Amino acid sequence: MLVAVDQYGQAVSLANRPNEQLIHEVRSSRHFCPSCRQPVILKAGAIKIPHFAHASSHACEAFSEGESERHLKGKADMHNWIRRTHEVEMEAYLPEISQRPDLLVDGKVAMEYQCSHMSVDLFVNRTEGYKQNGLFPFWIYGGPPIKKRAQLYHFSVFHRLFFQYSPLFGFWFLSYCPDRELFILYSQLIPVQSSLYFASVQMIPLHSLPYPPSFAKTSGSFLTLSDWFRQKQHWLQKQLYFRQGLYHPFLSTVYKTGHNPFLLPPWVGVPIRFMALIKNHPVEWQFYLWNDLLVHKPKAESKEAAAVLQERVRKGDLQLNMFPLFSFPTLLDLIEEYLLLFQSIGAMNEKESKTTLEQMEKERRFTEDFEELIMTRLIF
Ligand SMILES: [Zn+2]
Repeated sequence: MLVAVDQYGQAVSLANRPNEQLIHEVRSSRHFCPSCRQPVILKAGAIKIPHFAHASSHACEAFSEGESERHLKGKADMHNWIRRTHEVEMEAYLPEISQRPDLLVDGKVAMEYQCSHMSVDLFVNRTEGYKQNGLFPFWIYGGPPIKKRAQLYHFSVFHRLFFQYSPLFGFWFLSYCPDRELFILYSQLIPVQSSLYFASVQMIPLHSLPYPPSFAKTSGSFLTLSDWFRQKQHWLQKQLYFRQGLYHPFLSTVYKTGHNPFLLPPWVGVPIRFMALIKNHPVEWQFYLWNDLLVHKPKAESKEAAAVLQERVRKGDLQLNMFPLFSFPTLLDLIEEYLLLFQSIGAMNEKESKTTLEQMEKERRFTEDFEELIMTRLIF
């Protein structure tokens, strides 16, 4: 922790690069944890930045020991960044919810700089605690760098908890690297599989970003529909040959209903705005939608379509992603996007392909006719 109280109950902060004199003063008097009131000691060695730690190990509700250098430095950096223009309190205790955000900005924004892994439940509970207390939760990721594979980024279940949504940037994710004093913004996040995403990436030095952060929109399309179809083929092959094969609930439904997963109509498995809401590949939920509903009722309403997908979620065939930080878009918004496309391309008029060659030709024509329509609705 970077803030403790002295014997008179006054807060003593080490956030602003404490000088020798302050270090000396702190060393020569007693300090206490602002949460559990147990004694804390100053740790000011050569490696970590100066901070307080409990003198004896015991269960403290608000502070777990072993705060990393990365967390301490990141928290101090952000404190210095925000206080240039706004009121900010470090490690402020919120008694109503027994929570202590890393930073409390203008008494309204609870900022968490999260470096270590935590459970989904804990993340959701803390977020809900802030919301119930009238605060806006703002989580910034500080863990190990997001891994890049070819042109795709790997976002785990834990990473995805930090996802935010805005009409300008689509799904976005913000991380901060204290070693380089740099924010990294991943926006326009588009999944090609449950944890692999296309992204537009910007690096912004801490000192050049205002608070609240405002980012410039990056332009340029980085994904084409042919890329997408290639990725989809690759995904299908992987499921069939390396994973559960025919025991895969999606593949078994496809075969049982007399279809071939590689010869499905091209509108089954297209990229759709908001598709990150469903963890499964779009070919899965779009097939269920088509097979369970649209094949009999092409003009179905979005509510009927939502009921179909909810039923598949209940059966365990589909899984929704958990996004605690936003409430729009919803599953219904995703379905409306899909139905709009489905109905505007007159999707029911084509027969299924008989051969791979015929399928390739069909996807080529589909790309020619609908790439613009699909991609302009996908990327913001
Ligand atoms: Zn304590």
